[in-house]
Amino acid sequence: LPIVAIVGRPNVGKSTLFNRLVGKKTAIVHDEPGVTRDRHYSDVTSRGRRYTLVDTGGFDPESDDPMRQGIKRQIDVAITEADVIVCVLDASQPPTPADHAELDLLRRAGKPVIYCANKADSQRAELELSDLYRLGARDLIPFSALHGRRIDELEAAITAALPPPPPEPEEGAAPDEAIRVAIVGRPNAGKSSLINRLLGEERLLVDARPGTTRDAIDTRITKGKHSFLFIDTAGIRRKAKVTKEDSVVEAVSVLHAIRAMERAEVVVLLSDAFEGVAEQDAKILGLAVDRARAVVIGLNKADLLDKKAFGKAEENARDKLSFVPWAPIVPMSAKTGRGVGNLLSTITRIAQAFRTRVPTGELNRFFEQVLEHRPPPTSGGRAPRLYYITQAETSPPLFVVMASAPEQIHFSYQRYVQNQLRKNFGFEGVPVRVKYKPRR
Ligand code: GDP
Repeated sequence: LPIVAIVGRPNVGKSTLFNRLVGKKTAIVHDEPGVTRDRHYSDVTSRGRRYTLVDTGGFDPESDDPMRQGIKRQIDVAITEADVIVCVLDASQPPTPADHAELDLLRRAGKPVIYCANKADSQRAELELSDLYRLGARDLIPFSALHGRRIDELEAAITAALPPPPPEPEEGAAPDEAIRVAIVGRPNAGKSSLINRLLGEERLLVDARPGTTRDAIDTRITKGKHSFLFIDTAGIRRKAKVTKEDSVVEAVSVLHAIRAMERAEVVVLLSDAFEGVAEQDAKILGLAVDRARAVVIGLNKADLLDKKAFGKAEENARDKLSFVPWAPIVPMSAKTGRGVGNLLSTITRIAQAFRTRVPTGELNRFFEQVLEHRPPPTSGGRAPRLYYITQAETSPPLFVVMASAPEQIHFSYQRYVQNQLRKNFGFEGVPVRVKYKPRR
């Protein structure tokens, strides 16, 4: 999905606008418990288009320090990763020097920018905007996030500025079997090094071609009979343009992850074993789980640690990422190449599981055994009856269980069924979703 970033000074009403635009149209599905939710980005459907809306101001990966919430930082992040930038000004106040600086940066962004002024609560307020117009913002849209005035117009401007949607795959065209992989992680985790390493391997066939987003370059790599499409490898190498501030680079890495994951089946979280797994790693992985992608954790820079220290690092990773106990951890070194082959074969394995369809007969023979081994516990005096199971979807797998009283099936029992499915059918690294539907 294209990324739309909201930027603006503190208190101009960015988060009120964010909530307005997201409204009840939020489309992120949370099937897994224990996943971090973030209020600073959300998928939005508006006028038949979908995009990911980001409140660049609210979203600071590591710090709540207001000094670091600078406008320049937001703009840097937005310019590097967004497709459309929404610049929010304050209609109730005369423009400040900061506004001038902000508009200067944005004019040079080379990206579509929508200028709007919040707190234009009445028609009269709109007429008093001449000061803001003097900033040189073309097509300024005065609006009120609080009262909903002219939000429609703002929505129309946003959707009109989005890049054209990727073409639908042609009817009858052969499906692309390449495994779509996003490599994500914090700055300096070793993402570029991994890509270089993959490109350097002799037996690999490489071909770079434009991806669907404007400047995304994907890299296709073939090894043996498997082919991989590494998504937006250009974006992995791209660093923030204006500053080198840590928090900027960090925020850019999150936006890049959001964008790349959108087109991926398998997400590789690359984490620095030497530095240790950070909060930010968990956040990025949480985004992949939110989107129901298959995940694998590459614990990189293993060459810097002896066996004992690496064991500790691995334990720490399991602990920090305990909300995905099912994600495989692959020890590796992008620098020496150790473990990179194992990473590729793990990706292949979990991609196959991600795409698997279990035949209904086999599924129900397994399900009978599961029920026999541990029948659903009684609740409200009666045990819910589970009749049969089908696989409704693949990539990722979704199972549907027909039951007499779905609402009475205890969470812990649902967890049990999910774990059994995972164990029995080899859904390593794959989110397994199970829905219970009533059948009386
Ligand atoms: P990115 O920001 O995630 O793309 O990280 P880079 O690939 O640019 O790597 C950041 C730094 O870590 C560079 O100095 C790399 O040489 C170094 N690095 C990457 N992978 C490894 C590794 O496996 N072992 C060691 N020792 N250093 C690594």
